[in-house]
Amino acid sequence: MTRLRGGPYVWITWLSKLAAGETQCQWAPWFRTHHADYQRAPSDFQLASWTAQHTRMVDLLAHEREAAGEGVFKEEQNRFRVRRPSGLVIAGKPDLITLGEDGAATVYDAKTGKPRQSDVIQVMLYMMCLPYAYPLYRDKRLQGRVVYKSGDAVPIPAGAIDEEFRGVVTYYLDLLESESPPSRTPSAVECGFCDLTAHDCPDRMDPEELAEAPEMPI
Ligand code: SF4
Repeated sequence: MTRLRGGPYVWITWLSKLAAGETQCQWAPWFRTHHADYQRAPSDFQLASWTAQHTRMVDLLAHEREAAGEGVFKEEQNRFRVRRPSGLVIAGKPDLITLGEDGAATVYDAKTGKPRQSDVIQVMLYMMCLPYAYPLYRDKRLQGRVVYKSGDAVPIPAGAIDEEFRGVVTYYLDLLESESPPSRTPSAVECGFCDLTAHDCPDRMDPEELAEAPEMPI
């Protein structure tokens, strides 16, 4: 049963997709920020397959970094929450964090799909939040790396977390924690991937609406 949260709460991937422009309907992450226990649209077998592939990727990556002599922290060990002065809580769970002998810490995220801008922004958000969440990372050089199933990787230098990036994040955090909801912008494609149901979103579109192109008489 949908209920208002005790205070606004943002999961990092809602924010990364919003900042990357991959979420066009800003109402969806705004609603999740302010509400809990809402009905979720059912997921399909592809999610189960993705989860299994992702688990294996993180496992292999952890073994590789351990073999290289690095300290390794996996998923639940990395779960964090930080709070803005306004009270908004930002939470996330990096796949892997490694500590090298040179004092550098690296935040890894494993991706089974095609590369997207939100992949890099997600890791940058982890890099921004972790020094506030854990004292261990406060005096460390924190860098990032997105690793894809193909073997490709995108390194992210520590310097990527600059004032410009913090400004963009601030803009979207302000939007999400605002009491005024942004507009809903339903589309068959985006609603098809949205986990909100018609119970909470009266504008939800049926993805089938795109199935057939109407005839044009020319
Ligand atoms: S179902 Fe569609 S219109 Fe409703 S919140 Fe999700 S994306 Fe937006």
